[in-house]
Amino acid sequence: QIDEADKFEGFWRLYKLGVPVHRDPGKDFLGVSDALLKQIAKALKFPAASMLPPEAFSVVRKSFDARKFLKEPKFVYTVDMDVNKLLDLEPCTWDFIFELEPKVGEIEHLPHERVSGDVTSIIQNYRTIYNGTVPIKDGNNQHSEPHKHPTTKKPRVVVVGSGPSGLFASLVLAEFGADVALLERGQAVEQRGRDIGALVVRKILQLESNFCFGEGGAGTWSDGKLVTRIGRNSNSVLSVMKTLVTFGAPENILFDGKPHLGTDRLVPLLRNFRQHLQRLGVDIRFGTRVDDLLVENGNVVGVEVSDSRSTLKFNSQKLGCDAAVLAVGHSARDIYQMLLSHDTILVPKEFAVCFSANICVICFHCDMHLLFFSHIMTSAFISESTLKNRTTHHVADHLMSRSLCVWAFDCNCTQVGLRIEHPQELINSIQYAELAAEVRSGRGRIPVADYKVGKYISGDDADEPFDSGPMKRSCYSFCMCPGGQVVLTTTNTSELCINGMSFSRRASKWANAALVVTVSSKDFESLNFHGPVAGVEFQREFERRAATMGGGNFQVPVQTVTDFLENKLPGASIPPSSYRLGVKAASLHELFPSYITEALQSSILTFNNELPGFISSNALLHGVETRTSSPVKIPRSAETYECTSLKGLYPIGEGAGYAGGIVSAAVDGMHAGFALAKSLDLYRGSV
Ligand code: FAD
Repeated sequence: QIDEADKFEGFWRLYKLGVPVHRDPGKDFLGVSDALLKQIAKALKFPAASMLPPEAFSVVRKSFDARKFLKEPKFVYTVDMDVNKLLDLEPCTWDFIFELEPKVGEIEHLPHERVSGDVTSIIQNYRTIYNGTVPIKDGNNQHSEPHKHPTTKKPRVVVVGSGPSGLFASLVLAEFGADVALLERGQAVEQRGRDIGALVVRKILQLESNFCFGEGGAGTWSDGKLVTRIGRNSNSVLSVMKTLVTFGAPENILFDGKPHLGTDRLVPLLRNFRQHLQRLGVDIRFGTRVDDLLVENGNVVGVEVSDSRSTLKFNSQKLGCDAAVLAVGHSARDIYQMLLSHDTILVPKEFAVCFSANICVICFHCDMHLLFFSHIMTSAFISESTLKNRTTHHVADHLMSRSLCVWAFDCNCTQVGLRIEHPQELINSIQYAELAAEVRSGRGRIPVADYKVGKYISGDDADEPFDSGPMKRSCYSFCMCPGGQVVLTTTNTSELCINGMSFSRRASKWANAALVVTVSSKDFESLNFHGPVAGVEFQREFERRAATMGGGNFQVPVQTVTDFLENKLPGASIPPSSYRLGVKAASLHELFPSYITEALQSSILTFNNELPGFISSNALLHGVETRTSSPVKIPRSAETYECTSLKGLYPIGEGAGYAGGIVSAAVDGMHAGFALAKSLDLYRGSV
């Protein structure tokens, strides 16, 4: 319930305003068209759309919905209405505001400030609140001057890794005035681009500068999808997005229902990010690998680093620090071993999680439903106490018993699988039918088609490794890259794993996505892998098998979906692949244990019901996709972000088990930066 008078304050947010595709100006238009104004008037039950001033409305989100049961595909908008800007209307027409009631998922009252700013402006606010100090801004209002710390000794923080989590942690800490050293084993984007070029063209893998290691982290040569399941309207996510815009991302990432950047935009953005950090005084060192932590009396007091391009063992150097932020991603497997040598507790990721922390609920079809169902779940339909300490699959059972069109999965567990690639035109025509012609390789009015599919597997239909009852799993598509290409994400010559990337226009002829199956400790044990890093060994096992099946030299083993489903030896001809280092026809159905292969096979059959044509002799499976998330978690305090088993260490991002994607890693880095700044008493600038 809200006070009647409050209705004339702040903003109202209107959801699910659908404009039929033929009436909409197209995917790149983010203004308020006449057609949208009509939908707004309808939602408000306002009699004449033409009387509504367009400037009172701003688009918050725009997505394309082409689900099959719709009469016509439509653009779906979320719009904010600024009540102040309606005050010029005739008072008699204000009645509609009195009538407005917040309705779940349709209309919401936002009485105060709508959104937060970018990271720099948030920190300015903190400073203003705590000691009235506001950093000076330069002419274009983008960069702050280094904060003048009142004492001579600034706390020294070492941040290990320049992926999204490390970059955002460095940004926050530097803005607060810490003396930050950002250490990155890989190279700056310029050199990294050349190293990746040499890999793709001449098959030369630089072990320390590749698709996983280097400036920007694993997500730099990626699709740059900025979708996240951690609440994309939250202030934290918006702050990250706004910060990316400050560094050169296009503004439409703030509005697009499925924002993405593409590698070509990420590279210059990272260069701007780097320059800003340097202006703040951050000491950025590329080609600098952290090999060990210096620990005294149970406290991290520094790090031991070496030149990652040198093979000489004696090039190491010691750097002292007051705190070390570990933002190394999940491909730095050597770091897990190093942590174990210091008796740091690592835990394998398990299925059982608490709802409020980790479970995502997503609709088979679209993110709009994700928000809707999540909202219902956390508010009325299922109380949080029902969900607390239940496993993901209890939740899934619960939802399915109520016939809800939702699919629950645990983004906090380990998955392995294959990457499937279709011709993009096929996916466009499956998703859009005759409207597919309007895609025009990313130049048209509607977006290049993507998909998201998932299946919950009871376990009865798969040959499970243990007798202790059927294991419940999920199989789903992950990291779908429309108009993209399959790339090599190996960091070691004896292993082989892949992922997908794209450029901003998503103009390539191919659509690829990972199809992964959830696995757990029981699976690791069935292959005799035990202990905290058993999941890493499990991933490694299949990466080695894939390297062998591919015949070496980074060739990827492939099989058509039709052959895979029939457990057939690969035929003589295979369709073309976007993967540039060569493919080899192989029996991928023999790569994984049968419970994974069968889970993939039964799921692909289901996906074909949803996306008729998904099973096609032109669809090619590539092996293997293993690094979709970290199989390990490094426990830390929820409040201070400090590692619970080693003082002075702050494990963050994907490698520590707290993120799964560019945005969630950035948000985690940002939060960790704030927590650490608080511990170091940087808020007041009074150290
Ligand atoms: P990372 O990005 O992995 O960064 C860790 C950094 O630490 C690396 O640069 C590494 O070189 C450095 N490092 C490691 N060890 C050391 C050491 N000992 N010393 C110094 N430095 C070290 N996510 C999305 O949301 N959208 C996408 O479209 C998407 N596409 C992807 C495509 C590809 C090809 C890949 C590989 C990943 C993709 N991801 C995507 C996942 C996303 O990149 C990661 O979730 C995200 O980058 C994790 O951020 P992070 O900061 O935790 O770690």
